[in-house]
Amino acid sequence: MIEHAGTSMPITFVRSVRARRVSLRVDSARRCILLTAPKRMPFDVALRFAETQAGWIAARLKRLPARQPFIDGAHVPLFGVPHRLRHRPDMRGTVWLEAGEIHIAGQPEHLARRLRDWLTSEIRRQLMPLVHAKAARVERPVKSISVRDSRTRWGSCGPDGGLSFSWRLVLAPPEVLDYLVAHEVAHLVHKNHGPRFWALAEQLCDGPMDPPRTWLKANGETLLQYGA
Ligand SMILES: [Zn+2]
Repeated sequence: MIEHAGTSMPITFVRSVRARRVSLRVDSARRCILLTAPKRMPFDVALRFAETQAGWIAARLKRLPARQPFIDGAHVPLFGVPHRLRHRPDMRGTVWLEAGEIHIAGQPEHLARRLRDWLTSEIRRQLMPLVHAKAARVERPVKSISVRDSRTRWGSCGPDGGLSFSWRLVLAPPEVLDYLVAHEVAHLVHKNHGPRFWALAEQLCDGPMDPPRTWLKANGETLLQYGA
């Protein structure tokens, strides 16, 4: 914890063999500050650095978007369209769409997990045909498609051609998903972010690339607050 203007702020201290200097970063998903120090730096020195940055840390934590828990009555965007959550304890079984709302049956303690499972299957349903169609255009095989709870990356392309995506993209407008699929499929051909990579990603994108990239920059932190 460090103190600033009468409040204590949580800091997680991490030692890194790769870090050359001490640094501070906001972990938006966990709503804490990560203080990373090189292996040999004394703890006091790292802490003093963090203390000199206390004002910045306080401002940054204050700016984080509000948490968006999965609870009855909350609004959750489904492919960018807000849907109200309706808990239906009287019903058995599942999750379904009804009149622009997402209905979730069963016990309240299972609501968040049920919804999350359902959202994961929804994103998977959209992803599969999209990935295969774009991969066919570049004539590259897709080894596997996985949906994960990654808090640092929206998508990734493994060295073996396995693609993975964050389940939270189910919350974003469809053009964001389209752009990310185009991005990762372009990595099947170019394993870098060079000019040829970007030219291919642009070709594979259904619309212009800039709006979805701008959208992610502006709203990415908010997506990380859902279901927490
Ligand atoms: Zn990339």
